[in-house]
Amino acid sequence: MASQPACTRPGVDPELFHSTDRHDIVAAKAICSDCPVVRQCLLTALDERLDGIWGGTTLGERMKRSPRRFGPAPSPIVHGTRSGYQKHRNRDEEACQECKAAASAYAKQQKARQAEMAVAS
Ligand code: SF4
Ligand SMILES: [Zn+2]
Repeated sequence: MASQPACTRPGVDPELFHSTDRHDIVAAKAICSDCPVVRQCLLTALDERLDGIWGGTTLGERMKRSPRRFGPAPSPIVHGTRSGYQKHRNRDEEACQECKAAASAYAKQQKARQAEMAVAS
């Protein structure tokens, strides 16, 4: 079986992957380095924020590699504000109606201000 995870091969101690002992960690990583599913394994561990050695990395290494995933939960969106609108956008999601309205009101205000300045100058 070519795609059998290396850590499920006979004779591999699964405890290695949950040990905090330096030698165990090195041994576990060596097993991962010869694993046919190392990439999927790493992505799953990142997605699910798993603890232990996965995809040849420790939790600490994954946190360093992908701080956004492990960072504090994003602060809640205050809907109906321009910053709420920005947060929707930062999360790659469509802004809600209230936030869209707030953003477009702000844009209008900006335009009006620019128009005033153009007149004044
Ligand atoms: S990469 Fe994942 S599946 Fe492969 S040996 Fe390491 S822990 Fe097991
Ligand atoms: Zn909103």
